[in-house]
This record gives sequence, structure tokens and C-alpha cells, in this order.
Amino acid sequence: VNADLRRKQSLFEDVSVPAGLAEDSGRALKPCILCGGTAVRRLYMQAHFPVVRCLACGLVYADEHFQAEDLQRFYSGDYYQRAYVCHPPQIDRKIARDYLRAFRRGTRGRQPGTLVDFGCARGTFLLRLRDGGAPGWTLRGVDINPDEVAMGLREGLDLLCAEPSTAGIEPGSVDVVTAFSVLEHLQDPGSVLGQVARWLRPGGRFIAIVPSGSCLILACAVAASRLFGDRVRSFTDNVFHEEHLYYFTPRTFAPLLHRAGLRLDQVFFQPSYLETHPPGVLVGLAALGLRAASFLLRRQTMLGIVATRA
Ligand SMILES: [Zn+2]
Repeated sequence: VNADLRRKQSLFEDVSVPAGLAEDSGRALKPCILCGGTAVRRLYMQAHFPVVRCLACGLVYADEHFQAEDLQRFYSGDYYQRAYVCHPPQIDRKIARDYLRAFRRGTRGRQPGTLVDFGCARGTFLLRLRDGGAPGWTLRGVDINPDEVAMGLREGLDLLCAEPSTAGIEPGSVDVVTAFSVLEHLQDPGSVLGQVARWLRPGGRFIAIVPSGSCLILACAVAASRLFGDRVRSFTDNVFHEEHLYYFTPRTFAPLLHRAGLRLDQVFFQPSYLETHPPGVLVGLAALGLRAASFLLRRQTMLGIVATRA
């Protein structure tokens, strides 16, 4: 896993860091997108950018300064293969099953309609829906990675390679928008959320899964990093991902929904693949304990959101 992790991190080798970044651990150079504050507490130092918690509103975010080219390079080609080289294919299918559960929770009692999966990649979740998961639904997907979209098109899926602003989806024409493990990758998730929310008809549903900012494994990683530093990097770098720019809680996600014209209906939590598919027996035992404790404390790894367009 270490070699894989290094290979993934090498994708960000050319990233340049602004002068003065991380000199003052109590001050972020990138203001909080919720409240504009820069007074922070540093949680973790990644290879390039610190992960901080805003002291005013509690948002956990990366004080990142990626250029558009950095992210383009990262999210091009066979990104999922490169970024998740440690994933066996059954984990992809397991993740698609988690997404299916979230979809069912968010659409319970509703008639089939049109669904757009935003950040669909090669369409693993859409394939799961098409092949028996959701009869009657019209399925579409949008993603910025042309290679991933091409893979989904070969499977016969209706995928579009576009930014949300250029996807050409008629406003008010969609019944459900899903965004699974997507919003945390965006530099400005609030504005993107506003754009995809406009696709929804009034009463339409938005269903998302993001990494939770209050989960137990994050707290463990912060504590381990403070106690043992670089000696536990192979663990801590697996919890904090350099391409994860935000870690939300229900409290910090709600303002983004509100600004996008969405009403928060349900919050739920799910374990992540690290917990359900640990690499090895020892990690497995630790993961089992973590899963149990996270469940009991309601501090599980992934935060699920169901919201309705006003
Ligand atoms: Zn803030």
C-alpha cells in the first residue's frame, strides 16, 4: 500500500505552494468558504497543504492552493485506477452497493423519473441501477474525466463529459441528482451545488455522500499524527487524502444546501471501504473496533445527506 500511496502522491509533485503557507498554524491563507474566517486550528499537515478547522464555524477544510492544471492532471486518464490502486474490483462494487442504499433511502415512496449522477466517473453506480437496482428510471451521468466517461459510454450508459455549467441539462427537468464522493474534491463546492440544484424540479431530491468531518477515524488520525508524526504516515495519509478539500458535518453542510435552495431532510452515516475492506487481519481487527465504536458514538466515516429542492 505504501508504494501505491507514493505513486498517487507523485501525481501532485509539481504543485507549487504559496509563500508563507503553514508558517502560522493558527492562520489559513485560504479563507473559510462558509464564514470567510481565517482563524483556524491545524489538524494535519499533508504533503503540500494543511487540513484545518475554522474556529468561527467549525468547517474542516484543506488550506489548499491547487491551480486548475494541478487538478486537471490529477483527474485525467485512468484516475480511479491510479488513485485507488489498492482497491480490488469487489470494493468498487461494494461502494456501488452503499450508493444504491443511499439512493433507495432518498427515493423511498417516489415514482421512477430522471436521475443525474454528478461525478459519475465510469458509471459503476449507474450500471448497478440499470442492471436491476432501479427499474423505470431514466439514468444520466456527468463527469469531467473524458477517459472515465468513455469507459461508461462503452457500457451503453448515457454519460456526458462536462462541467455542471456546460452540461446543458435543462433547469427543473430532473427528479433526483446524486453526488457520491464528489463534493469534497471541489474547490468551490457551494457554487457547484447551486448549479446542480437548478437541474432539479421543485420537490426533486438531492442525495450526497461526503467524508464526515466529525468521524472517529479522523480524530484517531489527528491524535496518531500528533503522537507519532511521520512514523504513522501510511495510516494518516490513508485517512486524510490530499485531493479531499473538505470534510463536512451536518452543521457545516446545511449552509451550502440552504444557499443552493435545498432543504435538508435526512442525515445518515456509513462506514468507508477502509473499515469494511481492511488490508490485512491486524488492520481488520482495529477496523472492526473502530466500526463498532464509530457506530455507537454516531461518528462514522461517511456522511450521507438527503435534501429537497424548495
Ligand atoms: Zn468558517
